[in-house]
Amino acid sequence: MFYRCSSCGSNMVYNFNKKTLECLNCGNMDAPELLPATADGNCRNCGAPLEPGAYDIAGRCPYCGTYHVYEEKAVGEHAPVRIIPTTLTRIEAFRLLQKEFNDYICLVPEIFSEKRLNEVRTEYVPYWVFHYTVRMGYSGQLRESVHRGDETIIKTRHINFSFEAVMDNVPKDASDRMPDDIMDEVEPFHFSTVLDFRPEYLSGARAEYCNHPSQNYEKDAFEKMRAKALDLFCDKLLAAYPHSDLTEGDIRSRVQFNIVKQTCEFDLLPVYIYEYTMESGKKFTYYINGQTKEIYGSVPVSRLRMALGCAAAAAAFLGVAGIVNLVLILLGGAL
Ligand SMILES: [Zn+2]
Ligand SMILES: [Zn+2]
Repeated sequence: MFYRCSSCGSNMVYNFNKKTLECLNCGNMDAPELLPATADGNCRNCGAPLEPGAYDIAGRCPYCGTYHVYEEKAVGEHAPVRIIPTTLTRIEAFRLLQKEFNDYICLVPEIFSEKRLNEVRTEYVPYWVFHYTVRMGYSGQLRESVHRGDETIIKTRHINFSFEAVMDNVPKDASDRMPDDIMDEVEPFHFSTVLDFRPEYLSGARAEYCNHPSQNYEKDAFEKMRAKALDLFCDKLLAAYPHSDLTEGDIRSRVQFNIVKQTCEFDLLPVYIYEYTMESGKKFTYYINGQTKEIYGSVPVSRLRMALGCAAAAAAFLGVAGIVNLVLILLGGAL
């Protein structure tokens, strides 16, 4: 399905700042016409084949750029429950990359040039998000120093310390398309802005549902949650007995840990992606957390720019003849 402007017939995309669908062409924000997919799966706007990936629930026509939402696939266990809205537009995301990398003296200048502005894509990445209630307990002896007047008395006592903690919103990236290590880099996401899912939120983005069942991610999610819960437990226990010989190592080695309750759901979290392929075929991909603006990526190095930069820096020391030699060495005849 795609959302067509009732005024000019162009595509409407969702604007989270304005909380409405908006026409990219005329700015109209009135209710859209809803055009369902054609029976043969072609783009309802231009007629070209769409060929979405097996798990895709939203994407862009590669020919006319119209955003389609495949609502019929986002059902049952493949229906997202919540979505964290992006705080950026695609153009703002590109500007962030320019700001971050443009000052690199050895950057390949083409990579963030204005003509590539529209090549950033918005991706809603599927996550299994786990929620836990856990009970943690510590039982053991400690030595405590007690002050009485000028006297300090050391007392040994046995303690039983426990509490229950709610550890909500532990996300695990469940997309095969997104590299796990990079998704870890662009985290965290904050769930204070999360919304109940509505299909129109995906008009303007690419999205897919979770490729694998939540059980596949339980172990990793548990470890992720456990590390945070243990930090919390240590802080509380050490604060409760500030004059004791308890150490974090003692606590961590003796803590009893039980899950009281565990639930999980499929949520979509926003990431911007920009890809650049060098003439050599080497690909550089940039990721931006669509909520916190955290950036992940490295710059391809221009040997010419690097050589000229080094030559300029060396000018004061080597003189002109030296610079010529240095440039020739650095360029190595392979520009
Ligand atoms: Zn319009
Ligand atoms: Zn099309």
